[in-house]
Amino acid sequence: MNTPSHPRLSADDRTEVAVVGAGAAGLEAALVLGRQRRRVLLIDSGDYRNARSTGAHMLLGLDGTPPTEIRDRALADIAGLNTVIYLRSTVTAAHLDTEDGENRTEPAVSLTLSDGRRVTARRLIIATGQRDVTRDADGVPLINGLDRGHGIWTRHCPYCHGWENRDKDILVVPVPGAPVIRTVYQALYLRDRTSDRVRIIVDAAEVPDEFRGALSDAGVNLIDDTVSTMSGDPDAVSVRTTGGRTIRADTIFATPPTTAGSPLGEMLGVQMQGPCILTDARQRSSVPQVFAAGDGAVRRGEPEPMTFVTQAAAQGQLAAIWADQDLFLARPGIPAPSALTETPPTLPTSPRILHGSTE
Ligand SMILES: Cc1cc2nc3c(=O)[nH]c(=O)nc-3n(C[C@H](O)[C@H](O)[C@H](O)COP(=O)(O)OP(=O)(O)OC[C@H]3O[C@@H](n4cnc5c(N)ncnc54)[C@H](O)[C@@H]3O)c2cc1C
Repeated sequence: MNTPSHPRLSADDRTEVAVVGAGAAGLEAALVLGRQRRRVLLIDSGDYRNARSTGAHMLLGLDGTPPTEIRDRALADIAGLNTVIYLRSTVTAAHLDTEDGENRTEPAVSLTLSDGRRVTARRLIIATGQRDVTRDADGVPLINGLDRGHGIWTRHCPYCHGWENRDKDILVVPVPGAPVIRTVYQALYLRDRTSDRVRIIVDAAEVPDEFRGALSDAGVNLIDDTVSTMSGDPDAVSVRTTGGRTIRADTIFATPPTTAGSPLGEMLGVQMQGPCILTDARQRSSVPQVFAAGDGAVRRGEPEPMTFVTQAAAQGQLAAIWADQDLFLARPGIPAPSALTETPPTLPTSPRILHGSTE
């Protein structure tokens, strides 16, 4: 595919919405906003989470398509709009700015790019995802080989990779820093849905009795040991344990802990839940100008985000619609939303007011 050409950023650009991150969430947000003729700045450092995967699954009409292809297609769609500027850069700092010389009634969001440039926008959508952690703070691999294998010959999610590994000989391995019980659940789930040949290699002392019983009842073989090194290719894997064993299988499920994809939420003082920005159902953060979508956003009341491509895109779409609505309703002369609905003003308005009510 030819590299699409996007409009370039110039000093006098007035960005209405900046979208940081061009994974599924940010690309969808930029597409929606660009189509509404919002002036959009899409900034991306190009390190998206499933870059190593050869095929993204559970995607309507695109099941198994390589993520790079999906991203290239989305960028080509966006390049067809003259409203979205796409910038390959990293946002290194962010703050709310009340004094940018534009006589604003509300603070703008000010972003600093890795080349030192500063841009401001009236609304910001943070779509910077999460990162899988395969090394500790000193750069030491959490398990030798995990960083080489992650996304290539180790799997992390039965929904993304279960079908492709059905009926295979599966090893499940806890990664230091991720809860062991979660790994045990994953083994039980894989045994239930994916294969009758599932083994878990884990220090048995870390597994409560009831879970050991459940593993045994389900026919999951618990190997009481700890993996020190793993190696493999997409068709065969092998692990070495601290107990001196070498164990081979068809594939490994090892889910690393995750961290925030960027520090932008914290820089802007939004409410966080673990590595994620806390949002409402419209993807709004606790700071009115800031929306968040994708793996790096979690809905209030949910213990953790649903980290899938379609979910990220859906959230990007919602964030874009509500950021757009927010700007529309902030226009002078537009009546307050409560005047447009027959519902009591305390209830939220819905985008259907723009489609014409069908009731
Ligand atoms: C190996 C693997 C396989 C997967 N397979 C599937 C699958 O089959 N099906 C499925 O539905 N899901 C799958 N997933 C999950 C899926 O990849 C994520 O849910 C999805 O990518 C989330 O999209 P996102 O837009 O939130 O984040 P990302 O895709 O991670 O995009 C975030 C973007 O933000 C950019 N960014 C971060 N910080 C900055 C900054 N400061 N400045 C500028 N840009 C920044 C990054 O470079 C990146 O491009 C898989 C995940 C992994 C790890």
